[in-house]
Amino acid sequence: MTDTPRPTRIVIAGGGTAGWLAAAILTRQLGQLADITLVESEEIGTIGVGESTIPTIRAFHTLIGVDEQEFMAATGASFKLGISFENWARDGDRYIHSFGDVGKSTWMSEFQHFWLEARAQGVAGPLGDYCPEHQAAAAHRFATGPDAPLSYAYHFDAGRYARFLRQRCEQDGLTRVEGRIGRIERDGEGGDIAAIVMENGTRIEGDIFFDCTGFRAMLIDETLGIGYEDWAHWLPTDRAVAMQTASTGPAVPYTRAIAHDCGWRWKIPLQHRVGNGLVYCSAYLDDDAARDRLLSQVEGRKLIEPRLIRYRTGRRKEAWHRNCIALSLAGGFVEPLESTSIHLIMIALIRFLQLYPGGKISEAAIARFNEQSRTEIESVRDFIILHYHLNERDEPFWRERREMRIPDSLAERIDLFRESANVYQASHDLFRVASWTQVMFGQRLEPVQHHPVARLMPPGELQQILASISAQVAATVSKLPHHQTFLDRYCPE
Ligand code: FAD
Repeated sequence: MTDTPRPTRIVIAGGGTAGWLAAAILTRQLGQLADITLVESEEIGTIGVGESTIPTIRAFHTLIGVDEQEFMAATGASFKLGISFENWARDGDRYIHSFGDVGKSTWMSEFQHFWLEARAQGVAGPLGDYCPEHQAAAAHRFATGPDAPLSYAYHFDAGRYARFLRQRCEQDGLTRVEGRIGRIERDGEGGDIAAIVMENGTRIEGDIFFDCTGFRAMLIDETLGIGYEDWAHWLPTDRAVAMQTASTGPAVPYTRAIAHDCGWRWKIPLQHRVGNGLVYCSAYLDDDAARDRLLSQVEGRKLIEPRLIRYRTGRRKEAWHRNCIALSLAGGFVEPLESTSIHLIMIALIRFLQLYPGGKISEAAIARFNEQSRTEIESVRDFIILHYHLNERDEPFWRERREMRIPDSLAERIDLFRESANVYQASHDLFRVASWTQVMFGQRLEPVQHHPVARLMPPGELQQILASISAQVAATVSKLPHHQTFLDRYCPE
């Protein structure tokens, strides 16, 4: 008779979005294979921001068995079709980076080449005319279902989301320990993490530890001493003030990102309130002035006092070290501009489940995990830098961003687009061709030339094809209800 191996003891330190997402998928997917404990401190609390997402969240929700309507009701969520970038390349500019595909591509060339040729001939509409998600966002319309095949994500209340996940995890058998972590014990000097010891003396032993303690990074940094690669020279914003206000009108199906002289401001509409924040670089704006600026720009009754958040853009040099995996803020932070942090938590958890078979930890699996985490977060970093670098604004902060030396990986993409209108998606890229294209055009990058294939078309054909795509998009969008009307129906009080 063979012994049944004992379940792996997984300890999750921290109960913010990262901790509860880890708990949700590990309890659901590992079942009897793991004993899972989550430690959190209500007294310390969570960061309380992180309310805008990207469409990959829906696939993750399917994996953990979330019912969309139940989730939306529990978290006050609204739908999101993209981000409206305002004042970015120049004051007065506006473009929407939507989640959809733009136009139709051929094997030889992407849609932007045909669009550029049509524009040169004076027969093209704005790029967004060829993308249903863009047009639906601009018209504040939305629906889900077979008649409305839109790529979408959500805005939600982060505090309520953690509580929603917690309730599900506790039903699935997770053990939650409340209290402050006092210290972390290792297996001898330089060994694996052996246990978390609470301030009240309770000792929680484990085989695998997830560090979800936020910027403090108690396990990966304070205990294991894994350093941080700083990206402040590319992404120098380092503070945000955040506050919530009452809604003053219907919720729009997009996040607003409004540039200012040394950063940007977000506006995230939920069902019951609006999340607001001012992201800035402390070398150019002091905290009191940032707070006053935010207060003078928000609309609606103040629901909480503005809260200051300090951060450092960069990444942990190893996301997984020995028996510890750092998630989200403990593992690195790019910048909230494209709402990617929650996605990076989810994808790291999926990768962990794919690479960790239980039993002994494999060095090869750790190396693979770390390499994939690195390429993925660097690609997100490049995409965010793109927004800052391609600008024509006059303020010193923006001039420096325009003149800074950017990563070679990004410089190559910009050169390729500028010289030939070509865009590509590498295997580790989160953002697809349509995203890079929308942002490059939105930031006023104009290609010198495009693929000549579109010029081979007989006269009138290119115009006819584009007109047919935009008519189809317009017809689809005109049938959609207003976002708020759909929300009211989908999530009745
Ligand atoms: P936290 O929320 O800080 O949680 C840390 C947990 O550890 C808490 O439960 C705390 O109690 C616990 N803890 C810490 N120390 C101890 C201790 N000693 N004992 C016991 N428990 C302890 N992401 C997006 O995807 N979209 C966005 O729009 C977005 N906007 C953002 C805006 C800003 C300004 C910032 C800074 C981040 C934003 N993010 C966004 C990132 C997002 O907030 C995080 O990815 C997400 O909230 C996860 O945070 P966390 O769980 O790692 O940390």
